[in-house]
Amino acid sequence: MALVRWGLRRQNFHLLRRRRVLLLKLTVVVISVLLFCEYFIYYLVLFRCHWPEVKMPARGGRQEPVLKAMFLADTHLLGEIRGHWLDKLRREWQMERAFQTALWLLQPEVVFILGDVFDEGKWSSAQAWADDLHRFQRMFRHGSHVQLKVVIGNHDIGFHYQMSKYRINRFEKVFGSERLFSLKGVNFVMVNSVAMEGDGCTICSEAEAELREISRKLNCSQEVQGSSQCDHEPRLPLSAPVLLQHYPLYRASDANCSGEDAAPPEERSVPFEEKYDVLSREASQKLLWWLRPRLILSGHTHSACEVLHPGGAPEVSVPSFSWRNRNNPSFIMGSLTSRDYALSKCYLPCEDTVLTTYCAAAAFLLVLILAHFERLPSSFLFGWKLCRSHLRR
Ligand SMILES: [Zn+2]
Repeated sequence: MALVRWGLRRQNFHLLRRRRVLLLKLTVVVISVLLFCEYFIYYLVLFRCHWPEVKMPARGGRQEPVLKAMFLADTHLLGEIRGHWLDKLRREWQMERAFQTALWLLQPEVVFILGDVFDEGKWSSAQAWADDLHRFQRMFRHGSHVQLKVVIGNHDIGFHYQMSKYRINRFEKVFGSERLFSLKGVNFVMVNSVAMEGDGCTICSEAEAELREISRKLNCSQEVQGSSQCDHEPRLPLSAPVLLQHYPLYRASDANCSGEDAAPPEERSVPFEEKYDVLSREASQKLLWWLRPRLILSGHTHSACEVLHPGGAPEVSVPSFSWRNRNNPSFIMGSLTSRDYALSKCYLPCEDTVLTTYCAAAAFLLVLILAHFERLPSSFLFGWKLCRSHLRR
């Protein structure tokens, strides 16, 4: 009798030990996969990105300073109305990890977000705006050595018919209202492209007047000192500006866009609607004429495209930074001097890769559990035991 009891106790002890080992294995697999998919994958993927080299002809024997700028667009932080809470949590975590990893690895001097930072700024209440803003500031936190500049998008203040002074003011109170500034000799103009409707509305008229004034200042920088009326004011560096806006300049469609993150082939030839998908022809001509930019960067379409406008100004459409809008988000890295620039694209981890890893891990866990309870088909179980004994050797 005592021998039987001893045998049962020994059997229970072995069973308990095996279960503990299984639990330990499951915990290790789950933690490793979570750490990889939610943390280390960003380092692994972004580690491949490098600042492009810019040609640097020495000016008067001196090398021109190079500005390292990151351009991203359409983060679309969900508000209180749209989207599931889990979707919101996941997308914000992904963008936060991507942004913080990029800051740590790439060390940009300035980051530009080309509009549609928020998804519901066009209708959010004061409380909802404050909540969204709080989350934005946590996600896109940065040291004082990095500047963060944000362009107005239609989801931040509403389309033209929704846009109001109140919404523009609350946006500019946080992100500033400076439209023209210089960094390391590079002039930037940030346009409120939602106000380029051209219908003479108060906000539109003020925006156009401001752009004409910017145009005058840029022209002044090209005039010889002592020869013009510009002499009484500080001069901008002698450099054609980089134009940053949310809506792209007018183009008929994305038919000529290519690359892995261009719009899907079935959408590329769908004609764009002026003042909705892209700026009107008239507004685009005005911007090109007034500002004579050497480079234009825009957002809004969520897909990549490169366009050469009349007069030779190239425009780069920056794809969305959110996995809610794309499987393969990215951002642009720019090395800029007052006379030259070089751009390259940095891709973030693909959503497919992360999901495939999770599915593979789930299948592995299932096999582990079934093997423990010996519920696998006998041939599979035999193979599993063979592998295990082989690995233990
Ligand atoms: Zn937009």
